[in-house]
Amino acid sequence: MRCAGCGQEVAAWSSFVLCVELFAAPEAPSFSEEDLARDRRPELDELIDRLRAMGEAEIAAEEARVHERRVFRLCATCRERWHLALSGIPRPVI
Ligand SMILES: [Zn+2]
Repeated sequence: MRCAGCGQEVAAWSSFVLCVELFAAPEAPSFSEEDLARDRRPELDELIDRLRAMGEAEIAAEEARVHERRVFRLCATCRERWHLALSGIPRPVI
């Protein structure tokens, strides 16, 4: 297999796995009493119409925007680069 960072050949047993998840924040929006008292039916009808008009590819793209997970295999050198970057340590010049 090849390292996702540098493209160098790396054996599975000596590789490192990097998982990255990107997802929408789980917090719900807040609503005021005024928001709750307002008639939301027209907005909901419009939203439902938009969803019904979406194609498979458009739906998949929207789902990917909500949650995306990627898995990368890295060599030891690239693992160290990622470790330094995630630690906020400036990347050494190689
Ligand atoms: Zn590498």
